[in-house]
Amino acid sequence: MSELRKDPFTNRWVIISQDRSARPSDFGHEDFVQEHSYCPFCEGHEDRTPNEITAVRSADSKPNTPGWKVRVIPNKFPVLESSSELKRYGSGMYDAMTGTGAHEVVVEHPGHIANMADFEVAQVHEVFKVYKTRMLDLYKDQRFRFVLIFKNYGISAGASLSHAHSQVIALPVVPWNIKLELETARAHYQRKERCIYCDVIKQESLVRDRIVSENDDFIAFTPFASRFPFEVAVFPKKHSYRYTDCSDESLALLASMVKDVLTRLKVALNNPAYNIVLQTSPNIVSRPGNTDYWSSIEYDYHWHLLFMPRLTKVAGFEWGTGFYINPTSPEEAASFLREYDKYMA
Ligand SMILES: [Zn+2]
Ligand SMILES: [Zn+2]
Repeated sequence: MSELRKDPFTNRWVIISQDRSARPSDFGHEDFVQEHSYCPFCEGHEDRTPNEITAVRSADSKPNTPGWKVRVIPNKFPVLESSSELKRYGSGMYDAMTGTGAHEVVVEHPGHIANMADFEVAQVHEVFKVYKTRMLDLYKDQRFRFVLIFKNYGISAGASLSHAHSQVIALPVVPWNIKLELETARAHYQRKERCIYCDVIKQESLVRDRIVSENDDFIAFTPFASRFPFEVAVFPKKHSYRYTDCSDESLALLASMVKDVLTRLKVALNNPAYNIVLQTSPNIVSRPGNTDYWSSIEYDYHWHLLFMPRLTKVAGFEWGTGFYINPTSPEEAASFLREYDKYMA
């Protein structure tokens, strides 16, 4: 059973998850996991995974059998567990709590395809619809304060299996980086009564030198202060504080934007490893004693996706200062990615 511990100097929570050390490490064995015959995520190998939580499957197929398009299963080696009651406790001067949460895997394709960049847009759409379903379901649970959906592609991005998949982690606390963004957004709103993200989108649309791609509902650009080379952010153009409010029609446009960005990164940067994270509102249904904590979040926060190709390594300077050295300017990166317009459908 894992435990959350609070660092007394920074107030950041850390998950101490001892059991996970037992998980098989596939690092350095990519050839092995590339093979379809061994892969637990391939269609036909449903008996090699825990029972599915949900799946997009044909009406005549049964759970845990072939016939699915996207499949959600519990993580075999969860960092947090939903079975436990959430308890906070002190240990001397330290704060800790039970490792209560959820950890799921979204198998994104029945076939053995590694990179979402190689999916049909319709398949990407199915995956993003499943994200919404899982998030709506997990946010019904009062113990869960924040749900993170993320994706690791490639060994250097932390993927331990090559078959395309993403992960869903429900946390009993709001992570510090989300809190920091929410506080900045709220302070901007209090001063100006405007969403800071909407202001940034407006500015980027005017200046245009960091725009990577755009469609009716979404805009992709390299953030002004990108931490990593070729970091790309995708925002809905219309103000919206939570991903779960995105309509299925709009998710179709998001899918085509995701495919667009991933294809550019793949072609321009020679198939790099990458991470994608979905940043959206925490659970705003208050716990007792915490009433109007997020009273203006509906107006001041704006959900988005972040794409981070893993081209540089985080080293001593970054650990010592918390700030990053980015060797490629966001303007240069955006201009380079725009050159790949011809690869877009
Ligand atoms: Zn597979
Ligand atoms: Zn906004």
